[in-house]
Amino acid sequence: MQDKVLIFGHKNPDTDSICSSIVYEMLDKRDGRENTKAVRLGKVNKETQYVLDYLKIEAPELIEKVEEGQEVILVDHNEFVESVDGIEKAKVIEVVDHHRIKNFETSEPLYYTARPYGCTATILFEEYKQKGYAIDKKEAILIASCIISDTLLLKSPTTTEHDKKALEELEKIAQIDINKYGIEMLKAGTDLNDYSAEELINLDAKESDKDGQKFIIAQVNTVSIEDVLKREKEIKEQINKAIEEKNLSLFVFAITDILNSNSEIIALGKKAEIIKNAFGKELKNDRAYLEGVVSRKKQIKPKIVDNL
Ligand code: MG
Ligand code: MG
Ligand code: MG
Repeated sequence: MQDKVLIFGHKNPDTDSICSSIVYEMLDKRDGRENTKAVRLGKVNKETQYVLDYLKIEAPELIEKVEEGQEVILVDHNEFVESVDGIEKAKVIEVVDHHRIKNFETSEPLYYTARPYGCTATILFEEYKQKGYAIDKKEAILIASCIISDTLLLKSPTTTEHDKKALEELEKIAQIDINKYGIEMLKAGTDLNDYSAEELINLDAKESDKDGQKFIIAQVNTVSIEDVLKREKEIKEQINKAIEEKNLSLFVFAITDILNSNSEIIALGKKAEIIKNAFGKELKNDRAYLEGVVSRKKQIKPKIVDNL
């Protein structure tokens, strides 16, 4: 068992999961709490790598499981299916999150901070403010990167006034053109060429279930949906493989055009027919084009859950 309290975000980590973990450890240090450590549950994606390279900081250590009794702090998730292997027997002492709460149960009291903001780091931003800590440049860029990533530069319907205000203030601290930085960062994440089809469908995949029916919604960001669709055949093969291996009722793969804010989805599985009711679009060749849809959390997942 690790003697430190481990801080981590969800599996298939995104920028908010990785950078909020790092920021949380920094915030703990400000509090004089030295025994916490940011770790991660998976490979660093290209968008997050851009942030780490920009700031010249190392990625947190990779862990694959935790032992019984390990003290942990969850950021950017709470559902155990998205968390580390062994989480059921770990001791969750804190959660900081911006998602719905599902199947979450602990044996002991804990600190739980949930706010329906665009990203976890905006909650941390407000914690700094509340505690009266001045945010330094590195912290500002880490927090800003989470906001940019989760809200697609404030364009996603998940964006709140809290995120907008935070980003405005962080831009002043960071003294960079946040729009320019943000587009470069998001574009770094759209370089999908050297991912295999299998990696592509797992890059940002989230598993969930409804009444025992398991489903996955995966998402990739791109500046050209057509480009990703060149590999449609391979992608579908990998999705079908995942459906079989994990016994899924549905797999939705959303290819999101970050410049124009639309998504093309590929839906496979025995419940794929629910797409018609969920989005008012008939699948053609297992695909549908969803105008104005960019958010899994607000625009895709709730409709699927309602119709499953
Ligand atoms: Mg996340
Ligand atoms: Mg998040
Ligand atoms: Mg995301």
